[in-house]
Amino acid sequence: MSGSSTEPELQRNLKRIIWQYENCLSCVWFVPNDPLNADILERGKCTHSKLKPYNLLVSGRDWCNLYTEIRQRAIDLMQEKAAKEE
Ligand code: SF4
Repeated sequence: MSGSSTEPELQRNLKRIIWQYENCLSCVWFVPNDPLNADILERGKCTHSKLKPYNLLVSGRDWCNLYTEIRQRAIDLMQEKAAKEE
């Protein structure tokens, strides 16, 4: 049997978690306004070469099909740089 109304609640919740995972906040092209306190509500710029000309303001929970997961090391470097600038 298929269809969202018959889907077990746990399965539905897991799908939401996966969706939350692949969003701008965890994308390599996202530059948050505040890298030290960024969460899914954080606003920032998208620096992907195809989207940069549009000067988009995106939030951490946005997403597009150019999503590329950022590595933890890149997050650490961004946060270290922001901490030095404070
Ligand atoms: S808009 Fe797309 S490419 Fe840009 S940061 Fe978000 S997911 Fe990444």
